[in-house]
Amino acid sequence: MAEAGFYFIGTAKEPDLVRCYWCRKEMDGWEPTDDPMAEHRRKEDCPFVRLGKGCAQLKVDDMIKLETARGRCLAVRHCSSVCDCHLVGRLVLTSG
Ligand SMILES: [Zn+2]
Repeated sequence: MAEAGFYFIGTAKEPDLVRCYWCRKEMDGWEPTDDPMAEHRRKEDCPFVRLGKGCAQLKVDDMIKLETARGRCLAVRHCSSVCDCHLVGRLVLTSG
């Protein structure tokens, strides 16, 4: 799970819930044969997935790019949760 960018946030009600460190998307309902990275690749808007490397292959410049993209993901999620202002669209447009 960690190699695919996820960390555990499970609860008694959701015992297999994980969150992506980079895009903060949450996933649960894992099957024993699921491939965490293959499931994560379905999240095309994740900067970690777009980079196409596993955690063990990340270099310092990758981390700088990912942290910048992560900040944008956090800002978009926060902004979209508290208002419907124009900043959401602007942040999404500049995230690539
Ligand atoms: Zn992600």
